[in-house]
Amino acid sequence: MRKKIVAGNWKCNTNLQEGIELAKSVNELVAKKAADDVVVVLGVPFTHLTNVVESVNTERIGVAAQNCAAEADGAFTGEVSASMVKSTGATYVILGHSERREYYGETSEVLNKKLALALENGLTPIYCCGEPLEVREADVQNDYVKKQLEETIFKLPESDFRKLVIAYEPIWAIGTGKTATAGQAQEIHEFIRSIIAEKFGKEVAEETSILYGGSAKPGNAKELFGNKDVDGGLIGGAALKAEDFLGIINGF
Ligand code: PEP
Repeated sequence: MRKKIVAGNWKCNTNLQEGIELAKSVNELVAKKAADDVVVVLGVPFTHLTNVVESVNTERIGVAAQNCAAEADGAFTGEVSASMVKSTGATYVILGHSERREYYGETSEVLNKKLALALENGLTPIYCCGEPLEVREADVQNDYVKKQLEETIFKLPESDFRKLVIAYEPIWAIGTGKTATAGQAQEIHEFIRSIIAEKFGKEVAEETSILYGGSAKPGNAKELFGNKDVDGGLIGGAALKAEDFLGIINGF
């Protein structure tokens, strides 16, 4: 059965001390109050990885980087490689977030290099896809997302594809307070699962966790996660408050 996953994306928020406190709070709440069948992941800044790994029960909570370099190593000042991420004890990496695509020019070509390195180093990629507002308004979001997948993760061999988690994140809903309706989320998640089935077969499609991201909060998590093809969430703003994050984890 595919996994239910709630992953936080802290983005460029919290200094190290604040991050450790937040991780400890999440750790405590998850240990006491979270449903056991939900995988919990914290996507934290690079500077926090080692400390967050040390601050949580990593048997229960996975730690993710929010990016990794497109090169294995070498003269790439400021970059952090997949093997460096792995060496901290983190086990996931968020790749292809729309903010990275938009502000840092991450193309499918760059993402393919990052995906390969993440997988080579045993990290689980949380691969993000999703359309901007004008695409949604033109009602061509399925074509847009299909192209994103075809240019990247659909090029992977099936054995690698099986290791990924997908996060569908409509850009117009990220950090805007505007959430996709449960119906909109289900419709596109079902579409994504159907094209995975066409590409890799029904069994792979049924096993792939597809998360929703975009202004999810405790108040709307139940409605979103109640859909049969929504397997959890990638959570930005609401992941910065331990109680809210727990509310989302318990939203199934
Ligand atoms: C995100 O950044 O992945 C995200 C979903 O952000 P928010 O929950 O704040 O919309």
